[in-house]
Amino acid sequence: MKQIKRTVIVEALKRTDIGAEINVKGWVRTRRGNKNVNFIALNDGSTINNIQVVVDLANFDETMLRLITTGACINVNGILAESMGQGQRVEIQATEIEVFGTADPEKYPLQKKGHTLEYLREIAHLRLRTNTFGAVFRIRHNMAMAIHTYFHERGFFYFHTPLITGSDCEGAGQMFEVTTLSLSDPKKTKEGAVDYSQDFFGKRTSLTVSGQLEGELAAMSLGKIYTFGPTFRAENSNTPRHLAEFWMIEPEVAFNTIEENMELAQDFIQYCVRWALEHCADDLDFLNQMYDKELVDRLKFVTENDFQRLTYTDGVAILKAAVANGHKFDYPVDWGTDLQSEHERYLVEEHFKKPVILTDYPKEIKAFYMKQNEDGKTVRAMDVLFPKIGEIIGGSEREADYDKLVARIEELNIPMKDMWWYLDTRRFGTAPHAGFGLGFERLILFVTGMQNIRDVIPFPRTPNNADF
Ligand code: ATP
Ligand code: MN
Repeated sequence: MKQIKRTVIVEALKRTDIGAEINVKGWVRTRRGNKNVNFIALNDGSTINNIQVVVDLANFDETMLRLITTGACINVNGILAESMGQGQRVEIQATEIEVFGTADPEKYPLQKKGHTLEYLREIAHLRLRTNTFGAVFRIRHNMAMAIHTYFHERGFFYFHTPLITGSDCEGAGQMFEVTTLSLSDPKKTKEGAVDYSQDFFGKRTSLTVSGQLEGELAAMSLGKIYTFGPTFRAENSNTPRHLAEFWMIEPEVAFNTIEENMELAQDFIQYCVRWALEHCADDLDFLNQMYDKELVDRLKFVTENDFQRLTYTDGVAILKAAVANGHKFDYPVDWGTDLQSEHERYLVEEHFKKPVILTDYPKEIKAFYMKQNEDGKTVRAMDVLFPKIGEIIGGSEREADYDKLVARIEELNIPMKDMWWYLDTRRFGTAPHAGFGLGFERLILFVTGMQNIRDVIPFPRTPNNADF
């Protein structure tokens, strides 16, 4: 084949030099036509849009042509031409075609017909090649870029917190243990317990459930930081919104109050959604058309409207009024109980019809580090609740007072022996500060309109599933 520098399809579709020689490489989406001329829809992942390759059958070897089936990978030289067909400005009149890789139609699982998302999860290694997952993962990439850009431009530092942790004070019971001890025959102490002093780190360790505590250390020095990394939770909740391995973004800001924390959360999410509308229009249009006709409207709405702020107490009052008016929830609502996703979504979707930030939760249902309010009952927590998702962000102003923090830790019997370093933030130069955690996949769920969190991470980790 003649050597012509490759043009990626997203660029090829923009070229205007009709008559020029062009090379594209990609995977065949479909092939159709008659006995004289065939049309190949070719995709290389650079965009959801395919380029049309026109093949004059008389000019090509029949045996080679037979290999060009859905899923095959080909290398195409040709002439850029104006397209007569609908939906594209340009196409390629093929002059030479090389088949890089065939995809036997008898065996290749992704034929033209629409597959269910459930089926595609079973072939997660190949589902990447569908339009849907191409769109989702280009958007996922864009959201990561938006997040880094947002924080970088506002003077936050990207801070890396460890994935292996020696503290078990947060999320005890839902942590994955990390060990090199033999499970069948672990070293034992004289008393017969597992002897973690013989383990790799000389103590018991787990995968982190959050980078926040280390993030707070950094905020006490760098001022404004954010983390963006994987977190792990062994919670056995098989829901469309929970993964055992997910990515979390956690900004932590010295001197911020809960009000400033709420402003940051709203501004940050709106920025990310606006970024998607600006940078991912083709992919969003596809998802809007295929899955959710209200997707783009919903995204615009979120960027244009302030989130509704109210206290947990007021939220519970609204929910109880709804129950009194005959609304049925699966779980009861009462002051002091944690809100279920159905309650959160009622507030957002039925009552306010916009995102909601709930604040000042009962201290019993929130983490030990949250700033205690004067009332002795509530803490300065804030959860951001979103349509279709429920909780997308959980955050708070932190308790900066050493004595109050220690009192709370003792009240809760939290094992703090390994946490002296965290308490040192409050012993030396303590400062008011606040932060939150955004679940990256929950953001992607919202932005793509997908219904199941397993469809917005390439290779989901959930109970009984760690394939690929
Ligand atoms: P939920 O009540 O929905 O289980 P949570 O209150 O346990 O969430 P946080 O500890 O506040 O979650 O974590 C911060 C954010 O991380 C949440 O707001 C959510 O967006 C995300 N998140 C939490 N757990 C998961 C999970 N298992 N899978 C995916 N995202 C999660
Ligand atoms: Mn939460």
